[in-house]
Amino acid sequence: MNTIIDKSKSKLKKAKVMNANLPPLKPLTSPWMHELVGDFKLQEALLKEWQSPLNIHHLPSFQENCREYRQILDTYNFNSNIFFARKANKFKNLIPAAIEAGAGIDTASFRELEQCLELGIAPDRLISTAAIKEDRLINLAVKHGVLLILDNTDELEHVLRVAAGLKQPALIGIRISGFNFKGEKLYSRFGFDIDEVESVVHRFYSSPEAASHVKLRGFHFHLDGYSTAQRGAALHQTLDVIKNLDLKSEKPFFIDIGGGVLMNYLSSEQEWDIFQGTLKEAVAGERRPITFGNDGLGFTLKEGAVEGSLATYPYYNEYSKVTFLKEILQTPNANSKTVAQRLEQENRELRLEPGRSLLNQVGVTLARVVHRKKDSRGDYLVGLEMNMSQLKSSSADFLLDPFVSYQNPDPEAEPVAVYFTGAYCLERDVLLKRKIQLSQLPEPGDVVCFINTAGYMMHFFETEAHLFERATNLSIKKSEGPYQPVDFNPEH
Ligand SMILES: *Cc1c(COP(=O)(O)O)cnc(C)c1O
Repeated sequence: MNTIIDKSKSKLKKAKVMNANLPPLKPLTSPWMHELVGDFKLQEALLKEWQSPLNIHHLPSFQENCREYRQILDTYNFNSNIFFARKANKFKNLIPAAIEAGAGIDTASFRELEQCLELGIAPDRLISTAAIKEDRLINLAVKHGVLLILDNTDELEHVLRVAAGLKQPALIGIRISGFNFKGEKLYSRFGFDIDEVESVVHRFYSSPEAASHVKLRGFHFHLDGYSTAQRGAALHQTLDVIKNLDLKSEKPFFIDIGGGVLMNYLSSEQEWDIFQGTLKEAVAGERRPITFGNDGLGFTLKEGAVEGSLATYPYYNEYSKVTFLKEILQTPNANSKTVAQRLEQENRELRLEPGRSLLNQVGVTLARVVHRKKDSRGDYLVGLEMNMSQLKSSSADFLLDPFVSYQNPDPEAEPVAVYFTGAYCLERDVLLKRKIQLSQLPEPGDVVCFINTAGYMMHFFETEAHLFERATNLSIKKSEGPYQPVDFNPEH
């Protein structure tokens, strides 16, 4: 008999002791997720038709997020617009859903822009913030009157040439970085330095040709990290730039503050604290590892002491869209004027480009269990029909407990702790670095459901190594009876 299904009592008891105190990280969930997870037959049918893994979206939740942003912004007395940062998720059907719910789309590549135009999205609902703007992208944007956010003088000159050639004015915003914060500059590889932006604009617009072909509509920044104080400071400094420039414009200048609005994934602060404490103990060698290969996820051991901090997204935090935006907009300047007051008094439009936070509670990823085994360290490895690139972001790990749908639930079963492993021929293709406690050992054919994966996790880093195909994206909807797939989109 295979040891994996050898349910001899002594073995299970031993496993229990070794895995004692494996800290849970319970995700925040929505009713639609529970209905899906509770319906093994539906999951099995979906995986049979569209293969594993499968990304499932709930568009009403996405539209609700769009409308919430609108409602929050409507409580202020200045103009505002939101643009969904397309790069956070490739599912095409999010585009019309965003437009219908009152948001525009922030595109960041030629194909992202082309796809939106092909879908018939009005050019004034689109912007391009692409980091690299090749000739065909600039041509496409200028031809259709889509606003480009510019990063450097080469781009300015390129846009001027294209606009002059097409005899069509180009609409632009200028990206700024290098804001002063607490006596230091906030470095970014993107944008014009705040200290030179005024002279660049003056120089460029000293030419009447430039002024006739390239229309400046506003300014843009997108800061790394999630600091509201930095965003507030950057807004004041951008408001100052616009004031100093004293340019004429038919419309109010906009300030686009990019994305990075924090969202919360976890239900318990206590679990979050306990998890970090336990991880540190494991890194210090005081207990059995709780991560694959005792990965510290940012914590390291130096001369017997644990140093560093978690290199993951702050999966638990207490911000909401309302409180995050409020903190930014209430930031005062030296004259005690808040950002919100200045936007109103100086007649500027505020723009946001949220990606992740608009996808909160919008998606899950289903994957089929293929095999189980026990490795030489005595850990259970559960092989899933998916790979690491299909659950990956810039975060060191995705710190949420998944759900498992068992085809044969066994209330008598002993709990087990497992690692989920993927299909790439890499030792590090372990889908979650955390060891996960389950109520029973999954069997081949059971389904693992990773929760809240629509923002980046599903496919930002998805690759096709080994010629594995990219996962299918679809959305589900409930009319009468159970949820049904409604929006299959083979083009991703
Ligand atoms: C990534 C990005 C966004 C979206 O950021 P989120 O953290 O997903 O909200 C918006 N604007 C720009 C320019 C970006 O690079």
